[in-house]
Amino acid sequence: MTKITVNFERCKGCGLCVSVCPKQIMRLQEEHRNAKGYFTAQCIDQEACISCAMCATICPDCVIRVER
Ligand code: SF4
Ligand code: SF4
Repeated sequence: MTKITVNFERCKGCGLCVSVCPKQIMRLQEEHRNAKGYFTAQCIDQEACISCAMCATICPDCVIRVER
């Protein structure tokens, strides 16, 4: 089940979501840039996500959606 959805085109690759995730399953994609040229964040293990929403809470641009 997909719990974390990142709006890639609005992500600016700041890495804050990566730094706060207690499960360490957020990362910046180094192989894909969005239209603005940013390396965007993605969840690399949806199953391990505990839906704590810390990533979504800290995101300054509110581009992460968390399903519970
Ligand atoms: S909801 Fe929590 S566990 Fe899931 S990716 Fe975000 S910070 Fe990590
Ligand atoms: S905190 Fe938001 S803007 Fe920053 S890398 Fe994560 S999803 Fe992108």
